Amino acid sequence: MAIERTLSIIKPDAVGGNHIGAIYDRFEQAGLKIVAAKMQQLDDEKAGGFYAEHAERPFYNDLKSFMMSGPVLVSVLEGENAIAKHREIMGATNPKDADKGTIRADFASSIDENAVHGSDSAESAKREISYFFNDDEVCARTR
Ligand code: ADP
Ligand code: MG
Repeated sequence: MAIERTLSIIKPDAVGGNHIGAIYDRFEQAGLKIVAAKMQQLDDEKAGGFYAEHAERPFYNDLKSFMMSGPVLVSVLEGENAIAKHREIMGATNPKDADKGTIRADFASSIDENAVHGSDSAESAKREISYFFNDDEVCARTR
C-alpha cells in the first residue's frame, strides 16, 4: 500500500481540554508518523479559507467562530494508507455516530465541537497540507 500524507488538526476544544498528548498517542499507536507540526491561532480569513467548501452551509459562521476560539495544533501525518487510517481513528463527524474507541467518541462533545479534522481524499490532503505548510516545513522521516 502507498505511503501517504494527510493533514490533521487538533481543534480548539481538544487543545483546550489538554488532549493533545492523548490524541497524538492514538496517531502514533496507529503507525502514523508526525512529519510536521505547528500551533496556530486562526483568524477569520485563515479559518474561512480552510473551510471554503462549506461556505454556503448554514453552520459555516459557527464553524469559523469555533475554529478561532483558541489555538489549533496542525500536523502532517505520514504512513501507509494514512488518509483513510486517520479518518478511521478519528471516527464519524458527529460524535454520537462515532465508533467506540475513536478520537471523536472519546474526546468530542458535539458535531459543532468535534476535536479533530482529517483530510478526506488525496486531493484534499495535498491542498490542505500546502494551505498550512511550506515544503521545507515537512520533514523526511527515515527513522
Ligand atoms: P469532517 O470534519 O468529518 O470531514 P465535514 O467536512 O462534513 O466533516 O464538515 C466539516 C466540519 O464542519 C465538521 O467537522 C464539523 O465541525 C462541522 N459540521 C459539519 N456538519 C455540521 C452540521 N450539520 N452542523 C454543525 N457543524 C457541522
Ligand atoms: Mg471534511
